[in-house]
Amino acid sequence: MKKFLCHMFLMGIFILGTFGMTGTNVNADTLNHKPVVVIDPGHGGENEGTIENGFLEKDMTLKTSKALYDELSASGLVTVYMTRTEDVDLSLKERADFARQVNADMLLSIHYNASVNHDLYGSEVWVPLKEPYNSKGYKLGLYELNEFDKMGLTLRGIKCRESEKKVNTDYYGILRQCSANLIPSVIIEHCHVDNINDSVMCDEDEELTAFAKADANAVLEYFGLVTPDLEIRDLKVTNNSVFKTEDFPTPCYIELKDVDSDDLKAEILVSAHYSERPFVYYSYSLDGGRTFSERFTWPGYDYFDQKCDTEFEFAVDLNAEKDSNILLRGYDQFDVFSDSNVVFVAKPEIWEEEINKAPPEYNDKVIKTGISLANKLRDIAKYMFVAIFTVTILGFVTFRLKEFLRRK
Ligand SMILES: [Zn+2]
Repeated sequence: MKKFLCHMFLMGIFILGTFGMTGTNVNADTLNHKPVVVIDPGHGGENEGTIENGFLEKDMTLKTSKALYDELSASGLVTVYMTRTEDVDLSLKERADFARQVNADMLLSIHYNASVNHDLYGSEVWVPLKEPYNSKGYKLGLYELNEFDKMGLTLRGIKCRESEKKVNTDYYGILRQCSANLIPSVIIEHCHVDNINDSVMCDEDEELTAFAKADANAVLEYFGLVTPDLEIRDLKVTNNSVFKTEDFPTPCYIELKDVDSDDLKAEILVSAHYSERPFVYYSYSLDGGRTFSERFTWPGYDYFDQKCDTEFEFAVDLNAEKDSNILLRGYDQFDVFSDSNVVFVAKPEIWEEEINKAPPEYNDKVIKTGISLANKLRDIAKYMFVAIFTVTILGFVTFRLKEFLRRK
């Protein structure tokens, strides 16, 4: 009997252990200890990170991390460490090794972003490729993005990126090093400092503290220490979150609905029927794709539901001096983009009341609508032909009539 009970006990431990190790359930009960969180302020020392318009990333990450440390410590619910508290150089390996030493249950790498063309805005979370770190990072990422959504940021997603040199290996060093040390980790790119949509949300110390509060909430929700206000649904994005630039982008099409000659505006109807990734942003060009407008958020874009509107209308300001070749560019969460067909609108001086509203050609080929100079000349030739024909007939009839009358 004793032996049987002993077996049952061991079996219980085995079952508990198995369940604790597989699923993504990482609340404090299954950990059996106060969760250990390591906050890693990105960059430091010589490695300054992003520098744009007075923003210095290494300082921003340290300020945010200190505020996050204070928030989490004050909760009393988790044990918190920081990889650095000063402006010092620290390798990615040193950061991951520190997390290993303190037996971290999660490392949060704190960052702020910028883009080459300064056109990106929004928040994103990068997670490791391998399990169980992928699921853990993904779960924390959902809580993070839910917090950023409440703050009004655009959600660029929870993503993985594979190294170009080695398959099934993380592109980002901190995630790679942490997974090698068996430590769950995430990179949080809070927002883009070089785009006006986001820079206004991170240019004051209080705003960095607001980001830290959002991170603290997400961490406590992740460990099940506060009630989450986001239902973790079976999101499609889990299978669709690995960065691949070679992916075929969703096509999009445009159609000219109307031209307002007084206000110099063209009304454009956009349509896109995506099967997988919805569009996050769009921009447009008036010169057939040589230069583009700033990016705008695609109407109806919802990260959590992986949806965007399949049709919407927008107005573009036309150039009074030039013909316009209007083209729309749609971007998904990996910034993989596709260009629409081109809609031609002649410069205002040769506009006519009737603008040819050709239906969009669903073959990604360039179509041209509107009144071009060639069309105009063709129309003039047509009218002249009709006029000459009419005069000839009238002349003939008059001649015959005269002849008839003379005979009489
Ligand atoms: Zn950074």
